[in-house]
Amino acid sequence: MINRVGGAFVAYQSNVEVHHQCFRLNNEATVYMAELTAIDKAIEMQHCQKAYHPQISSPTLDQSHKGHLGNERADELAKSATNLPNIDCFNKIEPQTIKNLIKNDIIQEWKDRWRHSQKGETFLLSSECKHQKGSGDFFLNQIITGHGTIGAYQTRLFDKDPSCVCGHSFEDRSHIIYDCPEWEKIRRRFFPPNHKEVNLQLLLANKKSRQGIRTCCKGNSKPCSDLLRIMNTNLST
Ligand SMILES: [Zn+2]
Repeated sequence: MINRVGGAFVAYQSNVEVHHQCFRLNNEATVYMAELTAIDKAIEMQHCQKAYHPQISSPTLDQSHKGHLGNERADELAKSATNLPNIDCFNKIEPQTIKNLIKNDIIQEWKDRWRHSQKGETFLLSSECKHQKGSGDFFLNQIITGHGTIGAYQTRLFDKDPSCVCGHSFEDRSHIIYDCPEWEKIRRRFFPPNHKEVNLQLLLANKKSRQGIRTCCKGNSKPCSDLLRIMNTNLST
């Protein structure tokens, strides 16, 4: 949603409003910039109309009189100025403000793409993407992303045999977590008795179940771990 910014000042003579001016600033302007512009315009008007000797009121000028009638009037006019069809004042935007606006736009676009992603995996990481470093775990990440040594991924990417060590024809993440007889002992030890009815996202949210999922995946990745160890041994010799 675009934030519109408006400003205004009011001039009084003998406690009677004799002049007011409303203006709309560029959308990137801050409220502080709007207040400074109001002061600037009020001083400019005072110079042009010295005969008035007006008492100027803007939200900032009358800080010490919060709630003062003139202040409220200026606030009300500033709000109405946001509805003006055209922008009257373009204030210089500080480089840092531009950087912040670009950063916020990028983060917003990222969040929108995350929320509307059709890829089934992203929800397991988090329902909302966050602008902070996440913690990674080699084994858990394979279950979360569905990548790694899991047969379904290996066949999709490398055309390898998707079958499981138990003999099941297709090893995917659901088979490893819920069905594979290889991991039945781990399931009994770490998962709640009703785990078949608990979805993977909830299992991952539970500390003990997560530990079980990690153990299953670690066992499932054994050929991969062995391969890594052989590679490391060869590299170090
Ligand atoms: Zn299996």
